[in-house]
Amino acid sequence: MDTYAHNLNGRQEDIQRLEQERKRRELAEALEQISRQLSSSLNLEEVLALILDQLSHVVPYERCSIMLQQDDALHMATWRGFPKDKPIADLEVPIREDDVYQQIINTGKPLMLDDVTADPHWYQVDWLPINLSWLGVPLISKDNGIGMISMTRREASAFSADDAHVVAAFSGHAAVALENARLYEKITALNENLEQTVADRTAKLEKAYKDLEHLDRTKSDFINVVAHELRTPLTISKGYTQVLLKSEAEGVPHPEQKMVLDGILNGVDRIQEIVDGMLDLTRLEQDVMTMHKADTTISNIFARVTALFNDALHQRNLALTANGLDELPIIHADSDLLFKVFYHLIMNAIKYVPDGGSISITANTISEPDTDSVVEIIISDTGIGIDPDHQELIFKKFYQTGKMSVHSSGKTKFKGGGAGLGLAIVRGIISAHQGKIWVESEGHDEANCPGSQFYVRLPIRV
Ligand code: ADP
Repeated sequence: MDTYAHNLNGRQEDIQRLEQERKRRELAEALEQISRQLSSSLNLEEVLALILDQLSHVVPYERCSIMLQQDDALHMATWRGFPKDKPIADLEVPIREDDVYQQIINTGKPLMLDDVTADPHWYQVDWLPINLSWLGVPLISKDNGIGMISMTRREASAFSADDAHVVAAFSGHAAVALENARLYEKITALNENLEQTVADRTAKLEKAYKDLEHLDRTKSDFINVVAHELRTPLTISKGYTQVLLKSEAEGVPHPEQKMVLDGILNGVDRIQEIVDGMLDLTRLEQDVMTMHKADTTISNIFARVTALFNDALHQRNLALTANGLDELPIIHADSDLLFKVFYHLIMNAIKYVPDGGSISITANTISEPDTDSVVEIIISDTGIGIDPDHQELIFKKFYQTGKMSVHSSGKTKFKGGGAGLGLAIVRGIISAHQGKIWVESEGHDEANCPGSQFYVRLPIRV
């Protein structure tokens, strides 16, 4: 070899060494950048995009993508060089037995195809221009294949073993980024879950606290109401009894003995009514109310109820009208319990309508497709009405909207006293019949009396 040729060879070797050196440096810098980004960002998309950008400096490609496995297909996570006008994000490549993806996942090693058109396992997306060379590197996280880095070049045999080696180094970073993102997502979800759990528990505690507060108030209300309600008839009965005893001691029969005895009986009846109400409610709450259901006519029940209030209606100059009761079908229900329902509702209407007002009862049968027919009875009054905020609460036991001190005693007097048990019993009985009750009223206004409408719905057959 002459000196010239020798020198030329030497220079070519130098250039090759320099070129390799430059490539190694570029690779080290690219990997370094990715590492830095990986430790400073948890944004998966950012990191994956950076991986593809850096990769383009060291292994040239026409198209490159990171694809992730989801069920039986590979989905695009990030990509470069794909046609801009195509729905790349929706691209889904099915995973089939022995295809190139399965091969790299099974071996855990990169795979190069020098000409994809010659490979029987190649899946060509029909709207993508064919690039002949393909390089695929598996993404493995915790021994599981999760996806791949896929690169293509237009001409055949474009990738070298060195390229495969370099891409494998990048794939390690991609797998770490994906794993980080997965953990981050898990922690975020856990955190959100925890926050939700804490919020739920706090809400539950707050509710329990409010319930307890309410219960506490209910208990003192109960004692106040019962004491107040029982005291009046007790005092009256006691007074009358003392009158009779005095007459007895003097040996002279009291001139109005009948009136005095009626007074005592009234008082005792009232006490019994309150005690019965409390017992009814306890039975309903404990679900031990015995039902005696039979074919029942609602108009008969109303006839029994209204007969009891004839005197009160007359004294208070109240008009009571009924419509549609006779046309109602026979229903299967406990007539004694329904008697209590309508007794309380009519009594309330009488109590909360000023003298000279009116109460009307309207009844209908409602038949809707796909549901059983129900009877609907509406008890409307021209009374003081009920504030929308109280329309649900009044069905709770011992709930009275007015102040006890302003109650006038006497159960059928305007705003007459009550133990706040009536509507709780009413709702309990109706629920036991699988029915519904609610009230509608524009509001509470003692001057203008907007009135209230109590709706009762009962299934015909249960
Ligand atoms: P009470 O024995 O106090 O009447 P209820 O349970 O029967 O107890 O009724 C609870 C509260 O609902 C009453 O204190 C009253 O404020 C209100 N209310 C019930 N019916 C009517 C009505 N027809 N008009 C206006 N307010 C009513």
